[in-house]
Amino acid sequence: MKATKEYIQKKFDEYNRLCFDGKLEPLPIRLSRARTFLGQVAYMRKRKWNGSWHYYNFVFKISVLLDLPEQEVEDTILHEMIHYYILSNQIQDTSAHGVVFRQMMQDINQRFHRNLTITHRRSKEELEQDQQVRQHLICVVRFKNGQTGITIAAKTRLYRLWNALPKVPEVESCRWYVSTDSYFNRFPRALSLKVYKVPQEELKLHLQDALSLVKTGNVIQVQK
Ligand SMILES: [Zn+2]
Repeated sequence: MKATKEYIQKKFDEYNRLCFDGKLEPLPIRLSRARTFLGQVAYMRKRKWNGSWHYYNFVFKISVLLDLPEQEVEDTILHEMIHYYILSNQIQDTSAHGVVFRQMMQDINQRFHRNLTITHRRSKEELEQDQQVRQHLICVVRFKNGQTGITIAAKTRLYRLWNALPKVPEVESCRWYVSTDSYFNRFPRALSLKVYKVPQEELKLHLQDALSLVKTGNVIQVQK
C-alpha cells in the first residue's frame, strides 16, 4: 500500500491514544517521494543557553515512493512518532536512535507486538522492485596527488572500511555519504580497499542529494 494523508492521520490518532496516552500534539502531515527515508520528523532547532537544543516546527513526513506492506507503513509511522515524542518533549537523547529511543521502541514492540527497528530497513523485494532506491554507502576519497575516488562499501564492511581507508598512505582525506542516486549502481560493493577514480565534477553532480554520514562512538548514522 501507499499511505494517504487520511490514513496517516488515522493511524497517528490511533497510536497516539494507544501508545502515547494521547499526549502528542497534532502536527502537519506531508507525503514525500523521498528515496532516502521511509519516514521522517522534520523540525527546526535552536541552541539554548545551556548548549542543549530546543526543537520546534515539527512536520511528519512519510514517503509514498514505494508500495509497502501495510505493517511496514504502520511501523514506520510508529517509529516516527517515537522521534516526535522525544523531540517535542525536548528530551535530549544520546543520539537520533539513542538510549531513550531504543527503550521506547522496545516497550512498544513488547506491549503491542510490533516489529519496530532502528533502521528503516528495506526488504530484498523492495530493493528489487525499484533498483533506483538501492542505498549506497559512499566514501569519497581525496588522494594526496589531487585525484578523487570513491569506494561503495558493502554494508557488512562499512565499519572496517571506515577505519581502514584513512590509513592508506596515498589518501589525504575521506568523507562518507549515503545516497540512492542510481549513478552509483554501476560500482561494485567493496569488500576490500578498492577505490575507483572518478571525475570530480561528475561526482559532485551525483552527490547533490546525498546525506553525510558521521561516526559517533560506535554508531554510524546520517548527520542531522
Ligand atoms: Zn528513526
